[in-house]
Amino acid sequence: MTSGAGRFAPSPSGELHVGNLRTALLAWLFARSTGRRFILRIEDLDRARAGAEEVQLRDLAAVGLDWDGEVVRQTERGALYEDAIARLSAAGLTYECYCTRREIQEAPSAPHAPQGAYPGRCRDLTEAERARRRAERPAALRLRASVTEWTVTDVLHGQYSGVVDDFVLRRNDGVVAYNLAVVVDDAAQGVDQVVRGDDLLSSAPRQAYLASLLGGSVPEYAHVPLVLNPAGKRLAKRDGAVTLAALTSAGVGAERVTALLLESLGLPPTPQGALRAFQPGALPREPWILDPQELTPRT
Ligand code: GLU
Repeated sequence: MTSGAGRFAPSPSGELHVGNLRTALLAWLFARSTGRRFILRIEDLDRARAGAEEVQLRDLAAVGLDWDGEVVRQTERGALYEDAIARLSAAGLTYECYCTRREIQEAPSAPHAPQGAYPGRCRDLTEAERARRRAERPAALRLRASVTEWTVTDVLHGQYSGVVDDFVLRRNDGVVAYNLAVVVDDAAQGVDQVVRGDDLLSSAPRQAYLASLLGGSVPEYAHVPLVLNPAGKRLAKRDGAVTLAALTSAGVGAERVTALLLESLGLPPTPQGALRAFQPGALPREPWILDPQELTPRT
C-alpha cells in the first residue's frame, strides 16, 4: 500500500468517447492495483460545456469505475494557482510576454533552440520596453526556464527526454495554463502516479521540470496508447457510435463496452477481474485501431 494517488482528469468539453473511457479504466487499474487512492479532477479552466461534467461522471461510473473523495474542479482552485505563480515570480522565474501568435511564428529561433520552443523574444526586454508593450497588449506570463530539455521516467516509455521552453503559465486572457494547473493540482492532491493518453507524453518534461521548481516530487508517469480509427487518426464523433450514449442506443450497453475495452488491453472483461490480472508490463504498446462500425450490430 502507498499513501499516494492516481487520477483521471477529463476536460468537460463534451462526452467522453471510448478512447477516453479506455484511458480512464487504465488510470483506475494502475491506481487500484498499487493500493493508491483514485481521484477525479475536472479540468474546466478552458473548454467547459454546460452539463458535460455530469454526463462524464455518469459514464465513468457506468464502466465500473469508483473514485475517492469529492470530485475537484479547477475553476474552484484559482488561489492555489496564483500562489504558485507568486512563488515562481518571487524567485525571478517568470516574465511577461506580449507576443502575438504570429510574432512567435515569425521570430527567428534562438540558436540551438529545439523546434516548437518559444523563441524568447520577451525574455530580456528592458523595463521601458515592457511598459511600452504592456500598454499595447495584455501580457501572458511565461516561465523563465533554465534548461532546454528534461527527462522523465515512464512505466511504458522508459526514460523519455523532451523539450522544455519558456512555456506559458498564465495566458493573456488571464486563464491559468493547463501545464501550470496540472502540476499544482497533482502536487496539492498527493498524486504520485499520472496515467493518461500518450498524446501528452511530450508535455511531461515541461510539467516535471515545473514540479521540481515548485519543490514538489515528480510523479510516476504512464502514457498509454490511444484509440485510433482505421485511417490512423484519433477517434472522433464522426467515426460513428463512439460515446456510451450512442453505443447504448445502438444496442451495445455499458457492460459490453467495458468488456470490449478491457479485452483490447488483453484483460478479463470486468473491472474487478481486470484488476486481479493487471500487469503494466503486459499492456499493448501500440494504439488500438477501432472501427466503430464493427461495434454496433448491423441493421
Ligand atoms: N485534461 C486533459 C485532457 O483531457 C488531461 C490532463 C492530464 O491528464 O494531465 O486531455
